[in-house]
Amino acid sequence: MSLRVAIIGGGLGGLATAVRLSAAGHMVTLCEAGPAFGGKMNRWQTQGYTFDTGPSLITMPHVFEETFKAAGARMEDHLELVRLEPVAEYIWPDGTRFEHSTNLPHWLDVLRALEPRDADGFLRFLELGARLFELSSETFLRRGMDQPPDWRTIKALRHFPLRNAWGNYDKVVRSLFRSPYLRQMFNRYPTYVGSSPFRSPATLLVIPYLEHAYGGWFVKGGLYRIVEALAGVAREKGATLLANAPVARIGHERGRVKSVHLADGGSINADVVVMNGDASFLNQLLGGDEPTLPPERRSMSGFLTLAAMRNDMPNLHHHTVCFSADYQREFSQIFDDGEFPEDPTVYVNAPSRSDRGVVPGQGETLFIMANAPARAEPWDEAMTRTAWQRVVGRLARSGLPDLREDAMAIDHWTPRRIGASYRMPGGAIYGAHSHGWRNAFIRPANRQRTRGLYLVGGSSHPGGGTPTVLLSAKITSSLIEKHESA
Ligand SMILES: Cc1cc2nc3c(=O)[nH]c(=O)nc-3n(C[C@H](O)[C@H](O)[C@H](O)COP(=O)(O)OP(=O)(O)OC[C@H]3O[C@@H](n4cnc5c(N)ncnc54)[C@H](O)[C@@H]3O)c2cc1C
Repeated sequence: MSLRVAIIGGGLGGLATAVRLSAAGHMVTLCEAGPAFGGKMNRWQTQGYTFDTGPSLITMPHVFEETFKAAGARMEDHLELVRLEPVAEYIWPDGTRFEHSTNLPHWLDVLRALEPRDADGFLRFLELGARLFELSSETFLRRGMDQPPDWRTIKALRHFPLRNAWGNYDKVVRSLFRSPYLRQMFNRYPTYVGSSPFRSPATLLVIPYLEHAYGGWFVKGGLYRIVEALAGVAREKGATLLANAPVARIGHERGRVKSVHLADGGSINADVVVMNGDASFLNQLLGGDEPTLPPERRSMSGFLTLAAMRNDMPNLHHHTVCFSADYQREFSQIFDDGEFPEDPTVYVNAPSRSDRGVVPGQGETLFIMANAPARAEPWDEAMTRTAWQRVVGRLARSGLPDLREDAMAIDHWTPRRIGASYRMPGGAIYGAHSHGWRNAFIRPANRQRTRGLYLVGGSSHPGGGTPTVLLSAKITSSLIEKHESA
């Protein structure tokens, strides 16, 4: 049976759902509030420079491939994915630096040079990560037809005999590694889901495991090509994609969705409505007035700067991380004080180091990001100036040149701008944080109580990050086939 499906939001999850459902023969209309598709996976172009303004690194390329396959398409006809080796350079305030490689022999050499006994800790980490991945694949990531695990399932999982997996993330990292550098490096991974390593469960060690197992990848021409390719496939399969089409309300009667109503007064009748925008706004769209995600439950936002550099920077890696001197303090300032850290860890992504197609002949495209709180209070101009000074200060102390001298164009994205552009409370990039068991595992369900209503994307099950969002689209599409197509 062909369903009329309305998708609210054209982020990665919305587009992947449009691809899957239109390929399955349903009549899909996708309404995106902004002027372009992709949501956080966005692009900025200026004077011949092309920037991704969101994701800069992907892993699990087979999950991307699977999305194309679901529509009978081949990813390699649309995208060129390139595996990065080394994945990143890490730099510490005391001058220590090393390359992080996913080539096992090379990486073991780096580890042994730092702390010979940590090679053993790394092998134990790999074993733990593999078992965690196996477990989460069965119970969490691919529950397919089912709903997200409930609290009872999670509690039962805790009795699974997996040494080291159920504690605090930082504590388990400490038990695996002696080197303070490796501890800090591994502690960075919970930030991939906007969370603090000091408050997250050790199961998030599956994130660095996935990076080691599947590598870190980029896309030639920029990650935004993924958005263009998925939008193209969805259109080919018959989906209608509307930009500048904010949805103001979901029409429902007797517990069943009927339509979506656009802010401009138009409406679209629908048998199924899929919300890809932040899940915390769903109740408002249904006519309720429940407040959106409260500040204490929000994942981190970011302060990011895009810089078009006039000249080449041959010493820069594709990814560089300049660590702060006190990681614990940095997260405490973000989560306890709601302040931008005095000494932020700064991530620099220079895709132009690997792909000269994103610059006009010479120069570099830099994406510079530091974690920031998703505050309740607005972020003002003075905060932008302070944050930028702190970022520049950290880069200078880590031995990078002063970017301000050579930049042709600079564009800052504050948490406020991120929040307003993609409709996320406080600019929280990953919806709710993953602190503690309940928050890490129980996210808003893909199938809602109102019949015909579904969620997809990073703020719902199974969570944020590009491959996980694509899995969310797979789960949601299967649920729709199972419950609505009969
Ligand atoms: C700076 C930054 C860096 C990141 N880095 C990485 C990375 O390196 N690797 C990685 O895997 N992930 C990364 N991510 C996370 C990744 O981008 C997200 O997890 C993923 O793109 C989210 O997809 P989504 O489907 O949840 O949709 P979103 O991107 O959240 O898009 C939702 C869309 O819905 C629209 N919308 C909301 N409400 C309405 C409405 N009422 N009507 C119509 N439209 C509406 C919004 O405008 C938006 O376009 C990063 C994100 C950011 C911001």
